[in-house]
Amino acid sequence: YGDYNQKIDYVFKVVLIGDSAVGKSQLLARFARNEFSVDSKATIGVEFQTKTLSIDNKTVKAQIWDTAGQERAVTSAYYRGAVGAMLVYDMTKRQSFDHMARWLEELRGHADKNIVIMLIGNKCDLGSLRAVPTEDAQEFAQRENLFFMETSALEATNVETAFLTILSEIYRIIS
Ligand code: GDP
Ligand code: MG
Repeated sequence: YGDYNQKIDYVFKVVLIGDSAVGKSQLLARFARNEFSVDSKATIGVEFQTKTLSIDNKTVKAQIWDTAGQERAVTSAYYRGAVGAMLVYDMTKRQSFDHMARWLEELRGHADKNIVIMLIGNKCDLGSLRAVPTEDAQEFAQRENLFFMETSALEATNVETAFLTILSEIYRIIS
């Protein structure tokens, strides 16, 4: 079991935020375990999952926090120590995108000012139901200085890339 005696150089805490049902838990399941469960109730109660990876020959443990179905009760403890955040909306639900500004405000009120933030438009496999044009999200991301990517946890599109991008940027800032 390769992980056993591994020396960890860095632990990066990254928080997932956004409205309920946008796919946060499935994005995490896809990244951490390469899984997707149709009945995602199973993930309720899980606080965070970790994945160890190598960046620039350093061993980085990504500790990804999930709201675990408690989106209305996210507290400052959730944001404490976070060096990255993924702001997730569902591209088929306009409201979940419109709420991004509020989530961002809450994040900026609680988190370290150097936190790396990525905007994620999830469920891009449901292209015919799209309610948020890519350009709208790009514009918001540019204005707010966020990274931006469209993903599908279901089809595993861009999930790895999104996490690797944010973790590499955190590494670049911290190292
Ligand atoms: P959370 O409340 O933000 O954690 O959202 P979940 O991860 O529990 O996902 C909410 C619902 O959206 C579940 O029914 C998932 O199966 C579904 N879902 C999550 N990600 C995707 C995706 O990329 N594509 C599709 N089509 N459905 C997804
Ligand atoms: Mg969830």
